[in-house]
Amino acid sequence: MGLFSSDPLTAKLKEVFGFPKFRPLQREIIEETLAGKDALAILPTGGGKSLCYQLPALTRPGLTLVVSPLIALMKDQVDGLLENGIKAAYLNSALNEEESKDTWRQLYRGEIKILYLSPERLMVEGMFETLAQLNLEFVAVDEAHCISSWGHDFRPEYRALKGLRDRFPNVPVLALTASATERVRADILEMLGMSSARTFIASFNRPSLSYRIIPRLSPMKQIVEILADHKGESGIIYCLSRARTESVAEELVKKGIKATAYHAGLSGSERDERQDQFVQDKIQVMVATIAFGMGVDKPDVRFVIHHDLPKNIESYYQETGRAGRDGLPSECVLLYSSGDAAKLRQFIEQASDQTEREVAGRQLTQLLQFAEGSECRRVSLLRYFGEQYKGDDGRPTLACGACDNCLTPRQEVDATEIAQKFISCILRISKHSGFSVGLAHVVDVLMGAQHEKIRRWGHDSLSTYGVGKGRSKQEWLYYGREIMSCGLVWANPERFNVLEVTGEGMLVLKERRPVTLRAPLVTSGLTAEKKREQKKQLGAIEYDTDLFEKLRHWRSGVAREKGLPAYMVFSDATLQQIAAMRPSSRSGLETISGIGEKKLALYGEAVLAVVGG
Ligand code: ADP
Ligand code: ZN
Repeated sequence: MGLFSSDPLTAKLKEVFGFPKFRPLQREIIEETLAGKDALAILPTGGGKSLCYQLPALTRPGLTLVVSPLIALMKDQVDGLLENGIKAAYLNSALNEEESKDTWRQLYRGEIKILYLSPERLMVEGMFETLAQLNLEFVAVDEAHCISSWGHDFRPEYRALKGLRDRFPNVPVLALTASATERVRADILEMLGMSSARTFIASFNRPSLSYRIIPRLSPMKQIVEILADHKGESGIIYCLSRARTESVAEELVKKGIKATAYHAGLSGSERDERQDQFVQDKIQVMVATIAFGMGVDKPDVRFVIHHDLPKNIESYYQETGRAGRDGLPSECVLLYSSGDAAKLRQFIEQASDQTEREVAGRQLTQLLQFAEGSECRRVSLLRYFGEQYKGDDGRPTLACGACDNCLTPRQEVDATEIAQKFISCILRISKHSGFSVGLAHVVDVLMGAQHEKIRRWGHDSLSTYGVGKGRSKQEWLYYGREIMSCGLVWANPERFNVLEVTGEGMLVLKERRPVTLRAPLVTSGLTAEKKREQKKQLGAIEYDTDLFEKLRHWRSGVAREKGLPAYMVFSDATLQQIAAMRPSSRSGLETISGIGEKKLALYGEAVLAVVGG
């Protein structure tokens, strides 16, 4: 591998994992830990956290211990390492006694470089003493946010890690997580007793993901349209309710798509089975509640669709983040319905705890502003996490060029009449009744709805009753929120969010001031040309698609034979590069990302035969 031998770490990266270069901060983190120092690494999903402890483990003579709470993932990780020729093993409750014993024997003989351990195992009596007999040189704490009760996934067992630390004060610790609120970060450092450790924080931008938000009109039709761009590719559809996951999955199956539902109502074994089928590409589309995702690190998820509104921006980011870990272009589409928003708002207002109500209400407002906003999605997502989006040249920019708002900017419309009707309706209601009402009721009056409250309060006698019939309820709800967000009307949070007209708003009526608003979300999909533009922005490469399909076919054969997920044989990214470069020799194959020495020896000839054939 002469080409890459210039620096030892890069050479090792190529030799073992087949990657030509490090992802952002991987090298810095690895160098810090190799210098014997503690470190905290905060990298987004798909940022390549595992490599930060796997690579240094190979350059040390002793054992690296990885503490991870996700038992289901341990086997995958270990299988993947073995595929790359790295001696790894795990100990958790899923192993039987014989398997456990076997692993221990190998450990005592010093044959294992990386050991995965669940925190429960770590707490078992005598475990520290046993570890002391092994040549323990390095500890990695995966999903380190689990140690913090401020995190979203607190695991009390993680607190045992402090004991490990005290017992092995000279063994450096690397804590890793993708979730990074200040508080959790400080907690991790404190709980692990590593307050002087350096913290490495990568950008949370996911350059290969595209974001698109469309109004949910006929969801099945829209989903099928999105799927048409992803023939044979894996994806997740998130739904709010169990019943919905079932019905959407059923519809898709009827249309000949391999889909299944996943939710907390299924038994543990059913869930495991469906998850395995998805990971092994026997199921193409997982229609799931948020119960699905944490323990899945399938790198080739090409799309995530939100059928319903996510809980908040943070959840949206985490859920969409499950797409495109391998760095290939992947699509995130949210089917937006302002009806969902109204339902959520109602639901939140029923919460008994006031703080909870306030937090959830604020989060929902932020989410709606994000969804209905006309700003670049990437810019506003990152801003939410306190990060300024920077383009390829490293300079701050306000457009990513790949999201819906960048590709098809939203039109401005003259909304003077809309605003006049809306504002005068609010005023008439309060004049007539002596009290104010919320957005939904104002819209009902405009639409001429007939329900009990309208009759009881006599709102059907107002001159603005039914004047808005020319537009849909959805549109009115949308414009109502726009009118609020530009300050003509405000929802008084101290009085159940009833609408009050501001001084600015009064001028719209009194002085007939013109009002311009953004048109609602664009319903049409992207044109073929826009899609090409988007792919280019996301870093897609040109490759021979027929050859790619042939390689995929070959890969699934190998995967089946070995009982491994296809991506463990070669990633899609690697196959695309092969299909782009059409190498005809082993040395040609060597230059491709994802082909290390072991894979070259295992599959080199077979791949060359597919390319040549
Ligand atoms: P995380 O745990 O941070 O979500 P992973 O460790 O699962 O990320 O890595 C995500 C994917 O990126 C994996 O498929 C991994 O093989 C790949 N990867 C990691 N580092 C690199 C690199 N330097 N170059 C190319 N691919 C990489
Ligand atoms: Zn954008």
